[in-house]
Amino acid sequence: MKAHDAMYIGGQWRPAAAADTIAVVNPADERIIAEVPAGTAPDVDAAVGAAREALPGWAATPPAARAAFLGALHDAMARRGEEIARTVVAELGAPARFARQVQTRAPIAALAAYAELAAAHPFEERIANSTVLHEPVGVVAAITPWNYPVSMIVGKVAPALAAGCTLVLKPAEDTPLSAQLFGECAQAAGLPPGVVNVVTGHGRVAGEALARHEGVDHVSFTGSTSVGRHIGALAGGAVKSVSLELGGKSANVILPGADLGRAVAAGVGHVMANSGQTCYAWTRMLVHAAHYEEAVELARRELGAYRVGDPAADGTRVGPVVSARQRDRVRGYIARGVEEGARLVAGGTEPPRPTGYFVAPTLFADVTTDMTIAQEEIFGPVLSVLRYEDEEDAVRIANDTVYGLHGGVWASTEKEAVAFARRMDTGRVDINGGAFNTLAPFGGWKQSGVGREMGTYGLRAYLQTKSLQL
Ligand code: NAP
Ligand code: MG
Repeated sequence: MKAHDAMYIGGQWRPAAAADTIAVVNPADERIIAEVPAGTAPDVDAAVGAAREALPGWAATPPAARAAFLGALHDAMARRGEEIARTVVAELGAPARFARQVQTRAPIAALAAYAELAAAHPFEERIANSTVLHEPVGVVAAITPWNYPVSMIVGKVAPALAAGCTLVLKPAEDTPLSAQLFGECAQAAGLPPGVVNVVTGHGRVAGEALARHEGVDHVSFTGSTSVGRHIGALAGGAVKSVSLELGGKSANVILPGADLGRAVAAGVGHVMANSGQTCYAWTRMLVHAAHYEEAVELARRELGAYRVGDPAADGTRVGPVVSARQRDRVRGYIARGVEEGARLVAGGTEPPRPTGYFVAPTLFADVTTDMTIAQEEIFGPVLSVLRYEDEEDAVRIANDTVYGLHGGVWASTEKEAVAFARRMDTGRVDINGGAFNTLAPFGGWKQSGVGREMGTYGLRAYLQTKSLQL
């Protein structure tokens, strides 16, 4: 695939300071498809310098004009939507349909929504004798993961630009090609030089240099809880603001009286989509003892429809996971589940295809909350079904992890489901299959993170207040 042998800094593609490269591997066939430069501290320094230089001009650009730039960025990406989707298929292994719809169209639509928000947001408010100005927080470091590469970029870049911030993006090393395409789109949209910069590289080198850089005012990170903890500590030490979107172990609670077939099918789909590499996936399905075996059987049958295969081929619903490392990690968790006594209903550690980083869609029953697979984030196509005895038990199990990112509740009435959701320690809950809303706040309780993304709440993360007393 086409790749830049350069970083996007100050509106230009510039050679990296060092000669090292990162090989981008197609996880479906294990072939190297491109190489990108492995950025180091001098590249980060140049990018932050460009962002700092661009900051005063961009911050002073009227919100309506910033909105127009976001609109142009939307158009530039929309024009190349098919190419972006193909890139996500190749570097991540997402099935083509999913790559087109969820990985590409959704973030492009989010850009349009942010353009509207930028134009409509009141950047000042009146509180008694004060006028409170909402000003950009400054230069932003955006550090993103590989699982939804374009969505994660847009989810940080769009609100940062809407707020008047400039930024340096360090995408995940596994998915740098879609990030380079994003850089090209920023260039095509005519964004002023330095407003958006892209530095590819390893997290512990380029990411670390960026998070530590004294020219960065705010760090927005999405990724693992372990790296998030480290970045939070760095930001705290430097008194920078930080947003952390981390892991999850979300509960899908099916209450007695719910439409069991619908709830189970949606629950299976939630975990199998993107090969289970979704931070907010409902990886724990909670079912009342009276319906437990029926639910397990429904899930087993539903899982049969998730065809594993070449992500580029029509009809494939489950592609590979992103890397060999991820595959080994997920298989390790499956082995651990068996060891700890969970009942393996479908799937397992056997590779479903000889080449590529594939993991069989896996279903565990008789999972109890003390098991590793009920506590740790697996990030693969593995669903655990847990049994509860009554509502109190269901609440206890649902809340019994260090995470709190998302969840689902199914009941015979919305009222009953909402009453249960109020008792969940989590940032988001879908009620009887309520649709994903990109304008509602998204973010974790407990160790799932700090701060909120999406919509107005996402925009606020990139603003700081200045109160004028009149
Ligand atoms: P990760 O290892 O934490 O990496 C995330 C990003 O941070 C990557 O760009 C990575 O670069 C970079 N990084 C790694 N070490 C760094 C350091 N010391 N300093 C600065 N940056 C560093 O996570 P991942 O494996 O890519 O993604 C999977 C995890 O992310 C899962 O745990 C998942 O739950 C979580 N996630 C959460 C959300 C959410 O919204 N809450 C969304 C998606 C994913 P490299 O790629 O070079 O390592
Ligand atoms: Mg790869």
